[in-house]
Amino acid sequence: IEYQEHFFPGTRQELLNKLKQSVKEKRYRHILGVEQTAISLAEINQVDLEKASVAGLVHDYAKERTTAEFKAAIQQYQLDSDLLNWGNFIWHGVVGAEIIRDELKITDPEILNAVRRHTVGAVKMTKLDKLIYVADFIEPSRDFPDVEFARSLAFADLDQAVRFETKHTLEYLVNSSQTIYPPAIDTYNQWVVKK
Ligand code: GDP
Ligand code: FE
Ligand code: FE
Ligand code: FE
Repeated sequence: IEYQEHFFPGTRQELLNKLKQSVKEKRYRHILGVEQTAISLAEINQVDLEKASVAGLVHDYAKERTTAEFKAAIQQYQLDSDLLNWGNFIWHGVVGAEIIRDELKITDPEILNAVRRHTVGAVKMTKLDKLIYVADFIEPSRDFPDVEFARSLAFADLDQAVRFETKHTLEYLVNSSQTIYPPAIDTYNQWVVKK
């Protein structure tokens, strides 16, 4: 895919070079897998392929920043100070979006929202949000017992894949006695609870 719409001010290869400098090899491979999966899902869900590519490539751009860097960024970008009570798992999306805007000069609000929402989802999600959330879960290097089921669901029904992923993630967090970020419960109530 060759970039034409300038969601990133440069070529795809230039973006790849920046990513390679920002994350370790294993995460770089995960990022490429998310991009390819997001493009495939975009094709069948009428989403702009270049937006899917850029969002997939940048979604974990800030993942390897330190706690000190994230805390400084929360101050610098004047984000909600409640974020200080959480950790990397939420910062790399929500604070990461600001870092991406600043450092990579990506300003498209849909791309930045997809990054913000990729870890815990949201009550209201755009098609781009859904396909990055799901691609992150099913990309080729992911390996867990239900991943093949999640993959087939994703290509059959994107909303059902969001539902399955949300339920699976919440079950995992509860079963391993981890803190649940309250917005993740809102996502669960919207997508998983039977109406
Ligand atoms: P990754 O960045 O590609 O590894 O994937 P994600 O951004 O989807 O998730 C990052 C991490 O956050 C994973 O280990 C999730 O299990 C974890 N996570 C997601 N939601 C929550 C939550 O509500 N609470 C906690 N403690 N961890 C969460
Ligand atoms: Fe992530
Ligand atoms: Fe995820
Ligand atoms: Fe990821």
